[in-house]
Amino acid sequence: MAMMNGKQYRESLKNLKPTIYYMGEKIENLTGHPAFIPHINAAALTYEMAVAPEFEELCSARSHLTGEKINRFTHIHQNHDDLIKKVKMLRAIGQQTGSCFQRCVGFDGMNATYSITYDIDKKLGTDYHERFKKTLKEIQGKDLMVSGAMTDPKGDRSLSPSEQKDPDLYVHVVERKKDGIVVSGAKAHITGAVNSHGHLVMPTSAMRAEDKDYAVCFYVPIDAPGLIHIFGRQSNDTRKCECSMDQGNAEYGCVGGEALIVFDKVFVPNEHVFMCGEYEFAGELVERFATFHRQNYGGCKGGLADVLVGAVYALTQVQGTSKASHVRDKLAEMIHLAETIYCCSIACSCQGFAQPAGCYQADPLLANITKLNVTRNVYEIARLAHDITGGILATMPSEFDLKDPKVGKWVDKYMKGVADVPAETRIRLIRLIDAMTCGTALAESMHGAGSPQAQKIMIERRGNLERKKKLAEKLARIGEQPFFVC
Ligand code: SF4
Ligand code: FE
Repeated sequence: MAMMNGKQYRESLKNLKPTIYYMGEKIENLTGHPAFIPHINAAALTYEMAVAPEFEELCSARSHLTGEKINRFTHIHQNHDDLIKKVKMLRAIGQQTGSCFQRCVGFDGMNATYSITYDIDKKLGTDYHERFKKTLKEIQGKDLMVSGAMTDPKGDRSLSPSEQKDPDLYVHVVERKKDGIVVSGAKAHITGAVNSHGHLVMPTSAMRAEDKDYAVCFYVPIDAPGLIHIFGRQSNDTRKCECSMDQGNAEYGCVGGEALIVFDKVFVPNEHVFMCGEYEFAGELVERFATFHRQNYGGCKGGLADVLVGAVYALTQVQGTSKASHVRDKLAEMIHLAETIYCCSIACSCQGFAQPAGCYQADPLLANITKLNVTRNVYEIARLAHDITGGILATMPSEFDLKDPKVGKWVDKYMKGVADVPAETRIRLIRLIDAMTCGTALAESMHGAGSPQAQKIMIERRGNLERKKKLAEKLARIGEQPFFVC
């Protein structure tokens, strides 16, 4: 089967029978439930844009395995151009959705798994890479959306996986059979989990020999027996079920839609197992995945910032503040912050390199710099948006009151800005700014792809402090130094 469009993706979800719970209820009709529709719409755009003439160059690629045209979200990067196109694609989609479109996590997981399985096989003579290539061909051929399931609940953070009192706090192998493995545990915060076709499960951290049952990587379809998805709450999520205007971005929501995935003795056939016990490769897999996902954030968040800057700019015109010099200065600052993170994403792509498997990896140091900047710049962009918007962001009456036969006229009268623009225009812009900056979306910029401290650890490790010290010592004429410090 060829690439799917958005409609076909939505239809394909109807053929699956995943177990999903939300707000204490079992969800039987995922695609028709208002809590999930915006997230499905955002993911559907990754399909729609790949077949749209305006975007197909960015959003599709040619499979290096089959030569077929495929959705870029299932592609393995073959060169620098692929790495750069990925970032540009994420920005382009983010500009359309104003929200997370979820499909990048599995995309990054597949790229990391592709190269690590090659390295494991080279060292240990296993056949994980061939197994993975076969699974990848199926994913590309069917144009599947795959979630990237990495983060475990972790329990007591001071203990390793095997030291936990409850062994299920990290996903682990509970039984080895001739034809596969049985796994238990859970993965938390998994973006796009309920509207994916399957999950690529990876270990969450470096492992030691005693943790080898936890060094496991595999693919599992979303409706495999024993898989349970518990969808997370988001700020203002009941607005999705109440009315459209107060949502701010009714079409695509404000975040990706994350779930806790429980693995209750799930069977995984051997052909879908890509690491099982090779604990010495777990840390490297995590690092490669993290590099890919941190590479992304100047792309998608850059796209979201374009929408937010646009909303704030339009609002200044509606509120009569667009000519104030401090407002224009703040808008320029917002653009500067957004383009800075985009520059970082492009830079780590340009500085990428080939792995032994032949695929391309972004530069790890610069990818971590990208993400660390995102944890700061996105908050600063939001702070400036709040500053320009004013206190009305926190106090505005609802759509229900605007439409109420008794008080609607008062809301309309007093929510107006400049005389010739309807109050509803102002209300809609403020609600969009609200959706993009007042809730779960910001926390995603902080912790998605790893919390700031995770980036700091990588930056410190890869920053080559010893060489920097030598550069200084040479100029300060301390000790014997070479002519060039290399
Ligand atoms: Fe993709 Fe950005 Fe969402 Fe991560 S946060 S899945 S990179 S859109
Ligand atoms: Fe994310």
